[in-house]
Amino acid sequence: MKRLNPGQLEIDLFCKGIRIDPSCRLDRDARLFSRTRAGLGSGLEIVIPGDLKDIWMNVPVEEDFCALSPYEMRWDEAMGYHVLDTRSDEAYPVRIPPTPAWYERTTSSGIPMSRIGVLQGTYLGIYVSEACMFWTPQENANCQFCTSGVNVGVNEVARKRVADVVEVARAAKEESGSTFTHFNAGYQWEDKPEHTRAHGLNRAAPYVKAVREQVGGFIGVQVAPVLEHDLWKYDWLVELGTDHFSFCYELHNPEYFEKHCPGKFGHLGQDAFFRAMEHTSKLLGKGKVSGEIIAGIEPIEDTLQAIDYITSVGAFPTVCIFRPLIGADMEHFRSPAYEDMLRVFEHLWRAMARNRIPYGIIPNIEVSLVVQPGDAAYLAPRDLGWRAYRARNAVLRTLAKPYVAWKMRPRPVTTSATEHPKLPPPSLPVTPGGGSREAA
Ligand code: SF4
Repeated sequence: MKRLNPGQLEIDLFCKGIRIDPSCRLDRDARLFSRTRAGLGSGLEIVIPGDLKDIWMNVPVEEDFCALSPYEMRWDEAMGYHVLDTRSDEAYPVRIPPTPAWYERTTSSGIPMSRIGVLQGTYLGIYVSEACMFWTPQENANCQFCTSGVNVGVNEVARKRVADVVEVARAAKEESGSTFTHFNAGYQWEDKPEHTRAHGLNRAAPYVKAVREQVGGFIGVQVAPVLEHDLWKYDWLVELGTDHFSFCYELHNPEYFEKHCPGKFGHLGQDAFFRAMEHTSKLLGKGKVSGEIIAGIEPIEDTLQAIDYITSVGAFPTVCIFRPLIGADMEHFRSPAYEDMLRVFEHLWRAMARNRIPYGIIPNIEVSLVVQPGDAAYLAPRDLGWRAYRARNAVLRTLAKPYVAWKMRPRPVTTSATEHPKLPPPSLPVTPGGGSREAA
C-alpha cells in the first residue's frame, strides 16, 4: 500500500478514526476532548506536518467505527507521537497540540475559561446562546447528525457575559496566537413570556462589537440565515466588526435536506441559506463567506454540485466529513468511504482554482473540523494550474499583510449593537431566526 500524503491521511483518518494505544499519555499531553459543539468535533486534535502546510485535524476516537480502524495512535522515544497504519506498518509522525494554559483559568466572574470558548484548531470558537431551539420538546426537529442539544449547558455556559467572552478572546489571542474569533449559535428564540424569537445575529451583535473594540483580530459569525426582508442585518453586523459569515445548509439535495434537517427545512428552507450567502458574499467580497456542507450523507454527485454552487457565488466550501456522533440520531449510520471523500476534495480544489477563490490569506486560521481548501492542495497534481493558483494566493497574502496588522488591533465602533432604526422596540416580537451546525 502506497504511503499517503498528509491530505490523503487526513481524509482517511476522518473516515476511519483512530484507536489509542496505551503507550500514549494523552491525559497529560492533549487538549481535553471537547464535545461542546454540534459538534463534528468530538475527537483528538492532532497536527500532521507536511511540505505544503501542516494540517490540523480532529480525529474521531470515541465513535463505534473507530474500534475497527487500521490506524493506531502510538508514542515511543524515537518518534514521539505517530499514527501507525497497521495494514502497511507505515508510521506517520504527528504533533499533539497541548492544552492552552488559559483553559485552566477562570474569568474575573469565576467561570472556567474553557466553558466560555475553546480552540478548534487554532481559532477560538464561542457558542453564544443556549441550546438550539430545534432540540426543545415543542419543536423536536433537530438536525439528525447533531448533538449540540445534548452538550450545550453541560460543557459550556449557556448565556455568556460579554466581559467573560472578551477576557477569553484576549487570552486566546495573546497566549495562543489566535487571529480569529468565531461566534455561533443554534436556532434561537427569546425567552420572554410570549416566546417571541430573537435572531442569532442579534445575539451575536454585542459580542462582535466588544471583541472588535477590546481585543481585535478577525471575527466570524455563524448563525441561521435571516429571511429576505432582514438581509440588512448582515450589513449591520459588518459595521459592528464582522469579517466573515458562514452558512450551514448541510445538504444540497432537497430531499435529504428535508429528511435530515427537519427544523431548517420547516423554518427556513434552503433558499434562505442561498440568498444570505449570495448577499454576504457580494457585501464582503470573494473568499470571505463560506457555505458549510456535510459530505457522506447525500449522494456524492449532490455534494459536488454544492461545491460548484458555493464557489460560483464567490464563497468557499467548508466541507465536513460526516461523523456518526455518539448521541446523534444518526449515531449508527456508516462513516463515509475514503475513495468518495477523496473525490469530493479533489473536486473542491478544482472548483476553488477555477473560480479563483482566495484561501489562506489570514495567517494562522487552521480549522480542525474540516478539510480546508489549503489541505486539498495535497490532492491535486502539481501542474502549471496548481502552481499558478497557489502563487496568486501567495501574492494576495503578501499584499494583505498591512491590512491584517490593522485588523489585529482593537478599534472603536460607533454603531450600536442593541439599537438600530430597523430593529423593533424591545416589547414587540422580533424576527424568527436560527442556528448552525457547528454550534451546531
Ligand atoms: S440548527 Fe445547528 S444546533 Fe440546531 S439541530 Fe441543527 S445543527 Fe444542531
